[in-house]
Amino acid sequence: PSPASGRVDLDGAPVAPLTICMIGAGGFIGSHLCEKLMAETSHTVLAVDVYCDKIRHLVDPAPPHLVGRISFHRLNIKNDSRLEGLIKMADLTINLAAICTPADYNTRPLDTIYSNFIDALPVVKYCSENSKRLIHFSTCEVYGKTIGSFLPKDHPLRKEPEFFVLTEDESPCIFGPIVKQRWSYACAKQLIERLIFAEGAENDLEFTIVRPFNWIGPRMDFIPGVDGPSEGVPRVLACFSNNLLRREPLKLVDGGEVQRTFLYIKDAIEAVVLMIENPARANGHIFNVGNPNNEVTVRELAEMMTEVYANVSGEPPLEEPVIDVSAQQFYGEGYDDSDKRIPSMTLINKQLGWNPKTPLKDLLEMTLTYQHKTYKEAVKTQMSQASAS
Ligand code: NAD
Ligand code: UDP
Repeated sequence: PSPASGRVDLDGAPVAPLTICMIGAGGFIGSHLCEKLMAETSHTVLAVDVYCDKIRHLVDPAPPHLVGRISFHRLNIKNDSRLEGLIKMADLTINLAAICTPADYNTRPLDTIYSNFIDALPVVKYCSENSKRLIHFSTCEVYGKTIGSFLPKDHPLRKEPEFFVLTEDESPCIFGPIVKQRWSYACAKQLIERLIFAEGAENDLEFTIVRPFNWIGPRMDFIPGVDGPSEGVPRVLACFSNNLLRREPLKLVDGGEVQRTFLYIKDAIEAVVLMIENPARANGHIFNVGNPNNEVTVRELAEMMTEVYANVSGEPPLEEPVIDVSAQQFYGEGYDDSDKRIPSMTLINKQLGWNPKTPLKDLLEMTLTYQHKTYKEAVKTQMSQASAS
């Protein structure tokens, strides 16, 4: 095959064009990955999902220059015999499909476990049986809580990196008790990671596992009542965007004291493309993909988003921009939380030379500009209809 638009891998060898079966291609990460692959490579994508709203511009219909390079296959991997054929047709399978919004973990634990473990089993099996490479999306949540979180609040060891930095092949996975159903997601993801790792060890499956650390950007999740259910609870970026668009206070769960590191989706996608095009360096590894420089508490995130949104929208900030809610009120019974998430970047840097770039302030500016442009009018219309009825 001819090289993919003259692309070369990290060792200077030409990259051959690949056919990629991308499951969950219609989601947040999938939509950005499809766009990048279409714009900058000659790889072909078989896009699998139950819906295609976020990639409609690429597939419905494909624009003339992309005809033959991307096709959409509307199917539910739970129960569709076409899946194996698509995996066989491809050189590489990327599995993004999952239920991955925390509001579901404790309220729909069965769906969460089925989606993240049981439904992924045939994907792993078909890849292994047909000797196809697999890039599987796991989560930073498999680390659970930090070791330091069990020390008294002002204990000096909490400041030592070995008590909080999360390292792929070293850190333990620390979850709460079974009654805290929050951990159903992390536990299902951990078990599918172990299964894939075992397929590699016993049956030579070529795999790469990705652990995203709070990737955010345009097209993440939905705005309740506009392009998702009114009662739905998306991840924090969309929750706070929704509050800002409606000019209501941002809700801080249990005081917003936990910490997160946020990575811009476009930086993240560069890491994924490096994995796709450098199998010899990526196979057999589990990679953290995050931005340790972008750490904030959830309260700080709320304050930054309030300030940035005022700048990009030209609207004055609310006098009372945040309110506290308990986890019980916000998520219901069985919620629990990860305290802190600093990814070690040593492995991905060594294997793929990748580093995150975009500071939090810049990525929030780009993302909230998008949210304002995309949703402001729709939110206004929806609010006036709701108040009239
Ligand atoms: P997303 O919900 O936007 O995308 C998932 C996609 O999978 C959706 O389009 C959904 O329709 C599809 N899907 C789910 N079940 C399916 C099924 N049975 N058949 C066909 N399609 C199905 O989520 P995302 O943020 O793009 O996440 C993608 C992956 O990355 C998930 O595995 C998630 O656990 C993981 N992840 C993401 C983040 C992040 O920061 N965004 C963090 C940790 C882990
Ligand atoms: N959170 C919050 N208010 C919201 C939504 C989320 O305080 O409106 C908190 C949530 O409790 C968690 C953090 O924000 O501590 C990040 O939530 P997200 O949904 O992004 O998922 P997570 O990082 O926990 O996987």
